[in-house]
Amino acid sequence: TGAKQVVTRFAPSPTGFLHIGGARTALFNLLFARHHGGKFLLRIEDTDRARSTDQAISAILDGMRWLNLDWDGEEVYQFSRAARHAEVAREMLANGHAYKCFATAEELEAMRAEQKANKQPLRYDGRWRDRDESEAPEGAPYVIRLKAPREGAVTIEDHVQGPVTVNNAELDDLVLLRSDGTPTYMLAVVVDDHDMGVTHVIRGDDHLNNAFRQLPIYRAMGWEEPEYAHIPLIFNPDGTKMSKRKNAVAVDEYRDQLGILPEALSNYLLRLGWGHGDDEIISREQAIEWFELSGVGRSPSRFDLKKLESL
Ligand code: GLU
Repeated sequence: TGAKQVVTRFAPSPTGFLHIGGARTALFNLLFARHHGGKFLLRIEDTDRARSTDQAISAILDGMRWLNLDWDGEEVYQFSRAARHAEVAREMLANGHAYKCFATAEELEAMRAEQKANKQPLRYDGRWRDRDESEAPEGAPYVIRLKAPREGAVTIEDHVQGPVTVNNAELDDLVLLRSDGTPTYMLAVVVDDHDMGVTHVIRGDDHLNNAFRQLPIYRAMGWEEPEYAHIPLIFNPDGTKMSKRKNAVAVDEYRDQLGILPEALSNYLLRLGWGHGDDEIISREQAIEWFELSGVGRSPSRFDLKKLESL
């Protein structure tokens, strides 16, 4: 039995510039796929219509081309797949893995206020989980929520973080489809990754919690689950969160203002959180040959512009 072809993806939200952390995520996805003779795909997550811009899309595509991060095939635009996302939500409704929730905004507001007053965690209490829609007023708007498992726990064997466990009791029944029929981010990511055949989800560890909300969707649909690798974020040299004030964070700043060569930036990003002995300069061919997720460190990386400039 031949092993399945590896498929990875980079899935940026086009709401600004191409962040160097994103560029590193893309690089790791590319190297992992190429190492295994697989595919590296690009998906533009433009579902947030208010924040997505064409300018940001261009910055991402240009930045990736400049860094020689060539993806396979045409990029996928998430918003264009909204009908497919809604279709899956309806299928889950039909399967009994999701339900209609008719709770009004005021009602949910009151629920949260009460939870707050009782010092309880703020989370949807499942009030429509076992009710019948005939109990709702005629024609009332509703959202579709996942009927998440209540018992037990889920463990992810993350390729970077190791085993991570979350109790199902800590998760609520997340919204899959909003009352206006638009999909939520959580649903869109899972449907797209499944349809694109993604086998390995390699992304920033700020998305680790999302994996526990996304897995139940795979399970409800009976889809094969991907493997996960959540890589630590990049910080300033002083350990603070990367910000424009303290560091250049956009790939185009390195290209246009700092005059850094793409090979140098790419090499530096590779070595930020991944290493191969003492090698300082690693060619793309060598990186493809040597890259393994087990070589990705668990502690946050620190981006030091001086080191990059001295290379
Ligand atoms: N669109 C998300 C972001 O830009 C990434 C989603 C994912 O990799 O699953 O942060």
